[in-house]
Amino acid sequence: MKYIPTIGLEIHAELKTSSKMFCSCKNDPNEKQPNVNICPICMGHPGTLPVPNEQAIHMVVKTGLALQCEIAPYSKFDRKNYFYPDLPKGYQISQYDLPLCQKGKLRIGLSAQTGERDIQITRIHLEEDTGRSQHLLERPEGTDYSLVDFNRAGVPLMELVTEPDLHSGQESVAFAQELQRLLRYLGVSDADMEKGQMRVEANISIRPEGTETLGTKVEVKNLNSFRSVQNAIDFEIQRQTQVLGAGEEVNQETRGWNEAKKETFTQREKESAHDYRYFPEPDIPPLTFTPAFIEMRRLEIPELPQAKNSRMQREYNLGEKEAALLVKDRGLGEYFEQVVSELGSRLSEEELAKRVKLAGNYIVSDLQGLLAGNSVEDKNFKITAENFAELINMIATNKISSPAAKSLLKKMFETGGDPSQLLESEGLTQVSNQEEIERIAKEIIEKNPKAVQDYKNGKANAFQFLVGEMMAKTRGTANPETVRTSILKIIEG
Ligand SMILES: [Zn+2]
Repeated sequence: MKYIPTIGLEIHAELKTSSKMFCSCKNDPNEKQPNVNICPICMGHPGTLPVPNEQAIHMVVKTGLALQCEIAPYSKFDRKNYFYPDLPKGYQISQYDLPLCQKGKLRIGLSAQTGERDIQITRIHLEEDTGRSQHLLERPEGTDYSLVDFNRAGVPLMELVTEPDLHSGQESVAFAQELQRLLRYLGVSDADMEKGQMRVEANISIRPEGTETLGTKVEVKNLNSFRSVQNAIDFEIQRQTQVLGAGEEVNQETRGWNEAKKETFTQREKESAHDYRYFPEPDIPPLTFTPAFIEMRRLEIPELPQAKNSRMQREYNLGEKEAALLVKDRGLGEYFEQVVSELGSRLSEEELAKRVKLAGNYIVSDLQGLLAGNSVEDKNFKITAENFAELINMIATNKISSPAAKSLLKKMFETGGDPSQLLESEGLTQVSNQEEIERIAKEIIEKNPKAVQDYKNGKANAFQFLVGEMMAKTRGTANPETVRTSILKIIEG
């Protein structure tokens, strides 16, 4: 029997506020020393009172608006009660029945093969993060304890829940990646999965093709990379298919993901909402939002990835692939636009369009290659937009050949030098002198009689070989077109 998988995601993202959610402790994900950013409020001492972080509320409302959610005119916080060593208060302040945002959507598949589709978002709410348990890998003799670092306890955490709208691991990853990009554009979270700033849980069920009722769902937790999201979901779909195939039933449960074994494993039976004894947080008054407040947040939203993608294609005449690459990395896209603004104001429209295209190509291919996964926003990235634009102008005016441009770019990347100065010092000025090129062509042809004979016998490769020899001899500084015509001229007489 064929089964249709159905997946809903719950994604947590730590917000980039300066202080924690309900106290003035620093929110610093890079703090290495444990238990320094703590106070009686985030430690839940009796008699302390929480005060909601306004910046965090702004961030969630902004995210909700960017995802076309309805923003609640009236919202409140609730206590979610459970015991765990990393939860000092014995409850988490969260939101139960009146979240800040509801009913939104996010379009996926702009650059993937999954097809373009809107994924419905059920809700986005605001809560606080827990501390971090540290289980010692090697325990000294006689110790039987774990450690807890509370620096993260009380850090603002946004939780987004989707409708069960996704149908594969690949689609789920596409959603998570699109959301990550959006959060970064909005500046509300760095959403770095490796650092635990974005964490994904997936609810997965399968149902026989042709039926409507969803199967029993299994929740998979602890998915800390896009790869584990994809692998865990694919594994779980296969596992459930086997369970049903063997005539058994899928248990409703929470499962973990074992990255080393590439399989999910039973953690505990799924708890339901009533297990947490939610009740309204008595120490925080409900929140009300005026239409003016909401409109103010809307005005703070910058140009978002999908709008930027269409504008880039339209404004700079870029291909779909180039635009997608420039939008994927916000910094790279901004760098591209800075380079474009430095290309020069006295160019004809046609010439400018040509150079813009050239700049786009060099940035998404050669520069990205040199960056090797690093960002142009890193402190040690050395090429100024002005120097990059100068390089593009040198290529466009045939001052250097394309192979020479590649070596020049590499030098600029390493040293941060100015392209015209590097050109002189590296001896990469284009050999454009026709006589000089013909002289070298003669030399190459005399040295390679066999290649010449092969060419005359109709072997196209032989000609390419001679061109290659020429380019090597001139260290890539000769104009390839002049090289080709010179060789042909000599061989054909
Ligand atoms: Zn605190």
